[in-house]
Amino acid sequence: MSTFKAPKGTYDLIPPYSAKYLAVRDAISGPLRLSGYGYVETPGFEDVDLFARGVGESTDIVTKEMYTLTTKGGANLALRPEGTASVLRAALEANLHKAGGLPVKLWYSGSYYRYERPQKGRYRHFSQVGAEAIGAEDPALDAELIILADQAYRTLGLRNFRILLNSLGDKECRPVYREALQAFLGGLDLDEETVRRAEINPLRVLDDKRAEVQKQLVGAPMLRDYLCDACKAYHEEVRALITAAGVAFEDDEKLVRGLDYYTRTTFEFVHDGLGSQSAVGGGGRYDGLSEMIGGPALPSVGWALGVDRTVLALEAEGVELDIPPATSVFAVALGEAKPVLFGLVTELRKAGVAADISYGGKGLKGAMKDANRSGARFAIVAGDRDLAEGVVQLKDMESGEQSPVTVTDVVALLRTKLA
Ligand code: ATP
Ligand code: MG
Repeated sequence: MSTFKAPKGTYDLIPPYSAKYLAVRDAISGPLRLSGYGYVETPGFEDVDLFARGVGESTDIVTKEMYTLTTKGGANLALRPEGTASVLRAALEANLHKAGGLPVKLWYSGSYYRYERPQKGRYRHFSQVGAEAIGAEDPALDAELIILADQAYRTLGLRNFRILLNSLGDKECRPVYREALQAFLGGLDLDEETVRRAEINPLRVLDDKRAEVQKQLVGAPMLRDYLCDACKAYHEEVRALITAAGVAFEDDEKLVRGLDYYTRTTFEFVHDGLGSQSAVGGGGRYDGLSEMIGGPALPSVGWALGVDRTVLALEAEGVELDIPPATSVFAVALGEAKPVLFGLVTELRKAGVAADISYGGKGLKGAMKDANRSGARFAIVAGDRDLAEGVVQLKDMESGEQSPVTVTDVVALLRTKLA
């Protein structure tokens, strides 16, 4: 062991476990790539004000969770705590919203950083795959994203997740509700921090996980009763489209999500096998965000799914992912056979067969141990005598059977056997 350890709240992804993360990222991005979403990658850090303005001054993310730093040049940066503000910033900077038709559909995958209290499912460095559809107000777009996330989870084999859905209203109806809620909250017995939150963003008090707060919220005015006709109609259309796609969801009037920029459609994917860190992903519409960061009006919708928690959810359900073996063929070279087998391994790899060879000048016993450990289905073994006869020994690692195969035939034969 070295004298260093991974920093608190972080962990390393190590084979073979790390293969699950790749599989999850592929499964989540797969449906997006088939639906017109283009890949976007933004820096790991941004101007701190992008998040302060974009995510919201009163959010936990901005007040407590950001890793901020001042560069030698005096710039104030933050490690990105989430993806949406950065992706929108990048789209605006590249004028993607002017370049072609709207919406601009983008997906991303990467690391995010939040200074949180580490616990199962909550880390300081975690990974998300996300999608954003920028510049269109259309219930079908909200529905599309929810359906694609559902599809991703189902492709992975997840079953025990639920989709929670709500509408947060828009700039017409939300202020009226906000005032009514504030009046209600004013009559409660809340701690100082929550009172302050009630002043800045009262909706987020509804999201408070503490039982003593939730108890007092019984009888609070509900946004559902305040939605304007346009928001109601919009929400009904989203619901109808998801229903028609056969995707089940639950209406959750208290779902407000932690970010300030959401409007209208909001949703969360929760998994019941994860304990208190039950949200595996979430998203919603953010019609005002572009203007908040200095852009034009661009109504948009998106989500981010947590890769770490999705892996935990798969484990909680006992789902075994269909991960192809890291090695299908393992070569064991004895005597002077190394160059020939090394050449065969290179050929196999070019032909798309996962192949590896023993390194380090091991004898038969050590090299066969490597072959076993690799999990390969077949081993090709050869020594000087085999090569003199123009053959290698092909060993079936399951049955243990072994037979000579002409060197020039072995790649084609293995391809057929493994197909
Ligand atoms: P939470 O309710 O757990 O605080 P959040 O509302 O802060 O989640 P989002 O900002 O919506 O989460 O991020 C989307 C997804 O990213 C979450 O559903 C979760 O799967 C994942 N995620 C967020 N924060 C963390 C973290 N600290 N560690 C691991 N995964 C995280
Ligand atoms: Mg959080």
